[in-house]
Amino acid sequence: MEESATIAMAKKSRELKSQGMDVISLSLGEPDFHTPDFIKAAAVEALEQNYTTYTPVPGYDDLREAIAHKFQRDNNLSYTKDQIVVSTGAKQSIANLVLSLINPDDEVIIPAPYWVSYLEIVKVAEGVPVVISAGIDKDFKITGADLEAAITPRTKLFMFSTPCNPTGSVYTKAELQDLARVLAKYPQVIAMSDEIYEHINFIGKHESLAQFPEIYNQVVTVNGVSKAWAMTGWRIGFVAGNALLVRAYGDVKDNSDSGQFLGIQKAGAAGLDEVSIPKAIAAKYSRRMDKLVGVLAKLGFQVRKPGAGFFLYMPAPKSATGPSGTVSFDSGEAFSQWMITEHLISTVPWDDCGSFVRFSVTFVSDKGEAGEAEVIAEVERRLSGWKFSF
Ligand code: PLP
Repeated sequence: MEESATIAMAKKSRELKSQGMDVISLSLGEPDFHTPDFIKAAAVEALEQNYTTYTPVPGYDDLREAIAHKFQRDNNLSYTKDQIVVSTGAKQSIANLVLSLINPDDEVIIPAPYWVSYLEIVKVAEGVPVVISAGIDKDFKITGADLEAAITPRTKLFMFSTPCNPTGSVYTKAELQDLARVLAKYPQVIAMSDEIYEHINFIGKHESLAQFPEIYNQVVTVNGVSKAWAMTGWRIGFVAGNALLVRAYGDVKDNSDSGQFLGIQKAGAAGLDEVSIPKAIAAKYSRRMDKLVGVLAKLGFQVRKPGAGFFLYMPAPKSATGPSGTVSFDSGEAFSQWMITEHLISTVPWDDCGSFVRFSVTFVSDKGEAGEAEVIAEVERRLSGWKFSF
């Protein structure tokens, strides 16, 4: 398995910071919000009441009911609690799903750009990743025809995210319908729809793949509270889908962990009911995106505000000409290394679909809105005097 570029870059920034360098961290996708107090209180109360024993492996009933309510409220999807399993973050949800489904040599279709862990976990299961490219000209989204062209008798799983990390692209209802039309023709193919960025949405309503009745039983929806409720460290994610699939998934979980601490589950249930938190988080990142897009566009980057998420995703420049001459970049990796070494700005290279780079807007600023304007002005100052060619 390979180390994720995001984690590698975060490590490098921490190292430089510990040497006293003034690094601007635009690499991690983690809200710079504290978990709201009422959520923390639910966990503290559980501790005080000595809820410290093993918990039901698929999740505490109240949390699974809160999740079922969330799916009905936000996505118009009906799931009973037996169709829902809680896990240690959306990441473990995805890993368990792949481990429960994939046998050696099974094919898994993954549109690129993709979130790196998808590929790595398929490798762990000894499946064969079949990567199909969704280029910039298609706003990084695949069509039903693209999906169908990749399906073979060995295809077991299709995995994608909407909104997408890294691109921030959001599939519309019509685009999902087009994928659903194809999936319905191949009932042996399961689709994993990772909707963890659902609430960090700048364009209106989120659409879920599972909404189409003809494929409802083929879709496993992954979601969680990490991103939208500022709960990354609590590790609560969940899957919902066909009860049989979810039971197989539960068997993997049953044999690899023994449930999550009840306090975090109570905290998750308290958070899920409060939709004002995701709204505040989305509003903050929407504002930051507008500002950072403005700066990067002025410098010549081919950047657009995405429909959702924490990230600005764009082609990496081929070269930069500035005070110390011209530097060429043969990949997003080379550009990101130059950014951190020369400018102390950490970004994440993303080279699975060409030479790309991802800037996150979840940087930490302790001074509120004024502080975030300062950080973005500092990015501009550090890059000014450089001319980028693409
Ligand atoms: N899916 C995608 C697309 C992500 O970007 C992330 C986190 O970066 C996850 C899943 C994992 O979320 P969690 O922190 O809940 O494990």
